[in-house]
Parts: sequence; C-alpha cells; structure tokens
Amino acid sequence: MHYLSTRGDKSALTFSQILLGGLAPDGGLYLPETYPRFSIDDLSTMRDMDYRQLAFAVMSRLADDIPAADLRALIDKTYTTEVYSHGRKDSDFSQIAPVRKLEDGLYLLELSNGPTLAFKDMAMQLLGNLFEYALDNAGQDINILGATSGDTGSAAEYAMRGKHNVRVFMLSPLSGMTRFQQAQMYSLQDANIFNIAVRGVFDDCQDIVKSVSNDLEFKAKYRIGAVNSINWARVAAQVIYYFKAYFAVTANNDQKVSFSVPSGNFGNVCAGHIAHMLGLPVQKLIVATNENDVLDEFFRTGIYRPRTAAETLHTSSPSMDISKASNFERFIADLAGRNAVQVAEFWKAVDSGGSFDLNPSGLFDQIKQYALESGSSSHADRIQTIRMAWEKYHTMIDTHTADGLKVGLEHREAGIPLVCLETALPAKFEDSILEALGVQPERPAGLENLESLPQRVETMNAEVAAIKAYIAGHASD
Ligand SMILES: *Cc1c(COP(=O)(O)O)cnc(C)c1O
Repeated sequence: MHYLSTRGDKSALTFSQILLGGLAPDGGLYLPETYPRFSIDDLSTMRDMDYRQLAFAVMSRLADDIPAADLRALIDKTYTTEVYSHGRKDSDFSQIAPVRKLEDGLYLLELSNGPTLAFKDMAMQLLGNLFEYALDNAGQDINILGATSGDTGSAAEYAMRGKHNVRVFMLSPLSGMTRFQQAQMYSLQDANIFNIAVRGVFDDCQDIVKSVSNDLEFKAKYRIGAVNSINWARVAAQVIYYFKAYFAVTANNDQKVSFSVPSGNFGNVCAGHIAHMLGLPVQKLIVATNENDVLDEFFRTGIYRPRTAAETLHTSSPSMDISKASNFERFIADLAGRNAVQVAEFWKAVDSGGSFDLNPSGLFDQIKQYALESGSSSHADRIQTIRMAWEKYHTMIDTHTADGLKVGLEHREAGIPLVCLETALPAKFEDSILEALGVQPERPAGLENLESLPQRVETMNAEVAAIKAYIAGHASD
C-alpha cells in the first residue's frame, strides 16, 4: 500500500517513509492511494477482538510495510491497562477505551485515561513507540520541536519520554496554560525532554517553530522533526477506537452508529471519516465546534473561511480554539475525488489568507454521501451540558466533551446509537467544573500534588536565535 500527497506530488511512499515526516514536499497531506476495505466478514471476525487485536487488525492494513511481528509487539507494548487506566470511572478496568452507557442509545467513549488525561494519548503513545522503532532501524536520531498551548505538548512529551534517539524541545507560553497543564509537562525529569517557557503567547511559540523549520540548513543539521496533528500515523491510530466503540454498542454488523466528535484541527473526526471509508457502518459523523466555528460554518454553507489570529477566540474548551483545521484537507481531497489540482488550488487560496467555496463547482452537493453534520456551542451551553450530564447521567464531563454531547444530542436520531467521544477528563479544566457544579473535579490517583513536584523548565525570550542556540547546545548526547 502506498501514500500520496493530497496536492499531487508524484512520489508514492510507504507508511514507514511518511512516519517521521509531516507535510509532503508540495505542502499537501498524505493519504492512502486507495482505502483498504473491511468486508462484513472481516467485521464479524473483529467483533470479539480486544483493543490490542483490533489495533493490529486496523494498523496492519495501514502500516503494511512494518513486519507483522514487529507491529504486534509495538501495539502490545502500547495499549496496556497500565498506560490507559488513569482516572478511570466505574467502567471495566480490563478495557482500553471503555464505552459507558449514559442512557439507552447514548454512550460516552472514554478516551482520556492515558497519562495526560486527554484523547491525544490514544494515538501519541503508539507514535512514540513507532518513532523509536523506526529510528533504531535506521540508526538515526531526531529532535522534535513543537509549540503547545496545553494538550498536544504534554501528550507528545509523555509519549517520547525516555525513548532513545528522540529528544523533545517543547515551547509553551509563559502564561496561558493552567497550572495543572504546566505542572504536567514541567514536572517531567527525563533527560530527553526539554521544556522551554517562552516569554510570550502561544502564537509567539508557533512563529518560532515556523522560522526554525524554515531554516532548512539548521533543520537538516539538527534533524528537526515534528509530531503535530497532521501526522498520518496519529490519524491512523485514532481509527481504531471508532471500531472499538461500534462493536461495543451494536449486536451485529447490519446496525449503524453515529459519532459526535469535539473538533478543532479535524484530526479526530478525520479518523472517523477514514473508519467510514474502511467499511465501518457509520450513520453520521457529527462535527462539534465551540465558538471557533470555522468547521461548522463549512458544513452548513460549503464555504471554508479560516480565521485570523485576532478572530480566534479564547474559550473554555481551549483545545478547540483553532483558526484553521489542519487535517481538513484530507477530507476535502476525498470529497474532490482526489483531484489534486483542485485541492492545491483551494489551499493556495487558504495559504494566502483567503477562503474557498464549494458551491460553484457543485462539490458541496456531493457532501451528503459522507454523512458529516455539524453544530457549535457556547460557554453557556458547555456549563449547562456539564450540569445536565452530572444530574441526569451522574457523569462528570469536561468542557470539550460537553461541546460534543451538546451538539451530538441535537443531531440524534431515534433507533441509531449515538457515541459521544470523551476528549479530556474534567480534572484538566477545574475552573469550568467549579463554575458548573460548584465542586472541584476529582484528581486521578497519583496527581493530587502534581503542582508541588519539582519542575524542569528553561524560561527564555521569544527570540529565534536564542532558541536555536539552546537546541544546538542540547541536541547531541
Ligand atoms: C486536541 C483536542 C480536541 C480537538 O481534536 P482535533 O483532532 O484537533 O479535532 C478536542 N478536545 C481536546 C480535549 C483536545 O485535546
């Protein structure tokens, strides 16, 4: 199986060849040339599998150049109850990504029991092991440079800590993250993790990453890599839990299921779309946004209009505060029948600060076959939904999950099970829980005193040269 860029670059690459990279050379994203398809018979075989077996069934189709025994070992090492049982609710402790029934036909897919209490651990932990494996095989090392406003950075650090041949340099804004989020990252003492608190805001951090990455000489010399949400392996690993949830809430493969997904960069719901393309019987994929509703606007109007930094609001579901959705190009490529010329044209407009409209070409009329719907919510909606879930279902959910539940319920259909994806635990967003419920969320065991642990962080000015010098000084053993 081969991967191609959405924008038409001619090289056809294997999973391992695109694993460590980000964008294709032409600026596009990688997609399988054609999607492998699970038949109804395949689904019947998969129905009784546990999470690790399911992960292997899915990943072996998408990463078919990794020897089966190696892939199985990497998956078995990743998906353990030890790694995924932080802050578990009352569900079955032997399960990875358990499904919790809220009421008949309504379910919560628990994805946030990994080490950083957010769903990004589901894919990032596998990515860490895949990176280590690939780098060992190639006899290479890599210096991952990233910018974070919270969840991505911590998920990356917890996935890469202690891995040989990998160092992580993570820039975070000196102010802007919660004390919990800061402590999560800065308390890591692993020698290969470098936290850099930048005197500035998240955009300053991101600008520094961009200018370092644009210095091709520096990038090559210090083998700078990334683990951002466009990484195909991350999307692929997220496909697994859609299958898991489907089997958990259905009795046979004739049934269809809808999923509601709290969305920012369109990575999580893109994985749902891929699961659908692989043959999962999906009724609807519901894209839930917060006030930053660029995706909701698109699914309602056919117009994709990324926002400027000034138009991007800071909300109480901050991990969804995006100005443009970096994985969205994958879906548009499928919608456009992989017409790379057309996709390249759309993103030429986007990359120069513009927008595109799918109505004139008639493409928007074809969107129905993909079964995507959308909605948005506000801070008041989140608070109300957190209260409702607590009172009605005795379940405490975080603000992002609340966005998904609120929008999901608006699109619910009788007779079709609705699975809402939990993307973070409430403990990460204490202030909103306090506002909604008047109580502090419970801290998962072991994290009670997180903020008082010793921290390992370098505070630096938002200066590219200084950050480059820091990386150069710490890049080799
Ligand atoms: C990253 C994140 C999201 C958004 O996911 P995308 O894949 O970017 O759409 C939603 N909720 C939480 C808690 C997150 O960390």
